[in-house]
Amino acid sequence: MTVSTGSEPEVSAQLFERASAVIPGGVNSPVRAFHSVGGTPRFITEASGYTMTDADGNKYVDLISSWGPMIHGHAHPAIVEAVQKAASTGLSFGAPTEREIALAEEIVRRVGPVDQVRLVNSGTEATMTAVRLARGFTGRTKIVKFSGCYHGHVDALLADAGSGLATFGLPTSPGVTGAQASDTIVVPYNDLAAVEAAFAENPGQIACIITEAAAGNMGAVPPVPGFNSGLRRLATDNGALLIMDEVMTGFRVSAAGWYGIDGIAGDLYTFGKVMSGGLPAAAFGGRADVMAYLAPAGPVYQAGTLSGNPVAVAAGLTSLQLADAAVYEKLQKNSERLGGLLGDALTEAGVRHHVQFAGTMVSVFFSDGPVTDYAGAKAAETWRYPAFFHGLLSRGVYPPPSAFEAWFVSAALDDAAFEIIADALPHAARAAARAEAGTK
Ligand SMILES: *Cc1c(COP(=O)(O)O)cnc(C)c1O
Repeated sequence: MTVSTGSEPEVSAQLFERASAVIPGGVNSPVRAFHSVGGTPRFITEASGYTMTDADGNKYVDLISSWGPMIHGHAHPAIVEAVQKAASTGLSFGAPTEREIALAEEIVRRVGPVDQVRLVNSGTEATMTAVRLARGFTGRTKIVKFSGCYHGHVDALLADAGSGLATFGLPTSPGVTGAQASDTIVVPYNDLAAVEAAFAENPGQIACIITEAAAGNMGAVPPVPGFNSGLRRLATDNGALLIMDEVMTGFRVSAAGWYGIDGIAGDLYTFGKVMSGGLPAAAFGGRADVMAYLAPAGPVYQAGTLSGNPVAVAAGLTSLQLADAAVYEKLQKNSERLGGLLGDALTEAGVRHHVQFAGTMVSVFFSDGPVTDYAGAKAAETWRYPAFFHGLLSRGVYPPPSAFEAWFVSAALDDAAFEIIADALPHAARAAARAEAGTK
């Protein structure tokens, strides 16, 4: 591969200006705007394998994988073929198709506690409906969520919601009403005593606990031993449901997601990202008796004009079918290799840091020790991140444009990709070392 890097992003700058006139902030999802790292967001023209190409012809080793979905790398031939084949036989019918059953069966087969699933279009829709279903099933109103966990931009779930909001310094969002916020009890991640206290203070009122099965939206922050099992116990003891949000971890960290790692069963699950293959598709599912409350089988309403879209389902199903043991092994190896290189470069440059993992998701925190909650993530020297980020970007490596995001490897990364990463890292680490607090 010929690597061309470091060109001034002139075309991207022009496109960003044009975009900003007709799209708020110039982007269709906030973190893409490079707000917290500064500089010009790169407009991508094409991608293949681990390489993304921008409008100025710069090539990058992609370490965000579309924020998770692209575990096989970009434009995988089998997925592209499945999408083309599906598209050529009709884009949407508003009637059921056999392929939807196959995708549902694949999810049910992989994740033990999931008896049934409903397909939707985004992770946000999945968590929104899972919470509604938990409320409908239990007849209760309150929910418990954790600081720094992101569950999509659902009104009731935006309080202290990690990366996107943290990037912009927002505790929550204007437009969320007091009533919506007051039914949400926010407690620190990895703090079982706080969850116990929430149940004690709100007897018989809590419908569900919603948690990222392993947090990835304040950086990769795994549950401490006993945390998920403690949530399981507290939910059961108090007649509440446990919603495991696996939109990020699902089918990425193992064939069965985080459930495949700790085996702690939720009552409801939410999925997205990897199971979409890169098109808009997501799902929620869980216990048959709870899912039976969903329309048209039960009284809790949920619907979607494009849900189970034949093209999106073709992409998702093929992506999952390709995700065999060898792919998960590769993802594991690649994340360890990336983490090792990150640690080596920062150690060499004398930057205090801690590289941590949640399964195959990687994070680097500019702090001394492990980060276990949102307060810890925010207390790190995040002001070093813009220099680190641009040090990599200018040398052909595309990391997440926020200190609060996990890094996502794909199985497409090979020795050549890691060579580019290893060449870029020392420059970036030295830039991080030179960074000063309060600058960008
Ligand atoms: C990305 C994400 C969501 C939201 O999914 P969208 O498809 O962006 O709406 C929900 N939960 C978690 C854990 C996520 O990482």
